[in-house]
Amino acid sequence: MVKENLADVERRIQEACARSGRKRSEVTLIAVSKTKPVSMIEEAAAEGIVDFGENKPQELRDKYEVLPKNLRWHMIGNLQRNKVKYIIDKAVMIHSLGSVELAQTIEKEAEKHDLLMPVLIEVNVAKEPSKGGIFPEDAEHFIREVSVLPHLKIKGLMTIAPIVGKPEDNRMVFRALKNLSVDIDRKNIDNVDMSELSMGMTGDFETAVEEGATFVRVGTGIFGERDYGNKA
Ligand SMILES: *Cc1c(COP(=O)(O)O)cnc(C)c1O
Repeated sequence: MVKENLADVERRIQEACARSGRKRSEVTLIAVSKTKPVSMIEEAAAEGIVDFGENKPQELRDKYEVLPKNLRWHMIGNLQRNKVKYIIDKAVMIHSLGSVELAQTIEKEAEKHDLLMPVLIEVNVAKEPSKGGIFPEDAEHFIREVSVLPHLKIKGLMTIAPIVGKPEDNRMVFRALKNLSVDIDRKNIDNVDMSELSMGMTGDFETAVEEGATFVRVGTGIFGERDYGNKA
């Protein structure tokens, strides 16, 4: 099932690239494996997937330990400060930086390990109260503040778009994130790179690709529905 799903997602990414005049190599598919077993990750890896996304630090750490070291782990969810230590030397990128306090903790942990941590700034484009992230109008100020931390490297922006009936309903959210990244890029802030845009999930990744996504985060579309039911 994973194999067939991946082939379908891959075809749809290619078609979205073709429609929008983009190269397939500009878009990285992150297979969001949260709650899913190691065996399914191995199935995806056998199809050539190397980028995986997790939203629980301990789960990312545990999967990292048992799977081949060529896999690349993306921390995509809400990250509590006391859990940064679990993933600091395992994640290739943190997609969900939305507070100065979290940035300071990442800085401290990255310094301990003598590494430079790539981060994306999470932007709450649609201003949903239930979601984290910086409001668009506060993003420049926030980025200037975080950009002085020497063990963080800002690589771009990320958003979790609203749950909508049809993907088209999120087009303006994706476009707004792209425009914000272009605006910030023009400020030429030291230590800030705006090359990455992490946006689009199972329901709307094609629209996100059309609007400039460089990372799409697809879970259900690859691994099937998640079952949270039997969790304690
Ligand atoms: C779970 C999750 C995804 C994947 O969601 P699907 O709808 O299953 O594709 C993407 N991004 C984040 C931040 C997530 O937590």
